[in-house]
Amino acid sequence: MTQRSQIKAVSLKCPDCGNAMDGLDTDALFGCRDCAAVFEPAEGRLDRVPFQAVVVEPIGGAPFVHLPFWVFNVENGRTAIIVDAFDYRRRQYFGAPGLHLTQTKPALTLGPPPRLAGAVLRRKEAEDLARFHFLAMGDPSHHERIEDLSLVLLDARVVSIPFQRRDRHLVDPFSCAEYPVWAFPDLDRFTKAS
Ligand SMILES: [Zn+2]
Repeated sequence: MTQRSQIKAVSLKCPDCGNAMDGLDTDALFGCRDCAAVFEPAEGRLDRVPFQAVVVEPIGGAPFVHLPFWVFNVENGRTAIIVDAFDYRRRQYFGAPGLHLTQTKPALTLGPPPRLAGAVLRRKEAEDLARFHFLAMGDPSHHERIEDLSLVLLDARVVSIPFQRRDRHLVDPFSCAEYPVWAFPDLDRFTKAS
């Protein structure tokens, strides 16, 4: 039996409208299908997470696949740090899409979000990764001190970014980096939510 076949579906009620928020028990975030609110379950309560979608111009009619990312503003920083919130394989070979986006410093045009699906990274875990993204971004000679890890992260939110599916790849709309579809175990869930 594979690990994924043991994953159970769970259902929570949206605190805003009372309708069901469906997901898997491996999900860190749950989105309401009716009012687009997003919540992170935590110790007997649901913490609200701001949720937005990036709007990009379609290129050549390829379908969009909406991937969820954590986005943090940085104290005194001019750029946002973007962290993959979805399950992703082979980061060591192809790099993290969120890190590439952070380095590209995209101007994010925001619009109404699609339904959230496949967000498996909790805010605390995303904050830890954001610190390493921050270190990976700058001139290494300026980031040798461990105090740089105490970076203050502001305004955590989840942003859905549409990647285009072209053949067997998902393409980052800002850097045009390509990632093989098999590196995304939840590809079907993103596609259905789009
Ligand atoms: Zn709702």
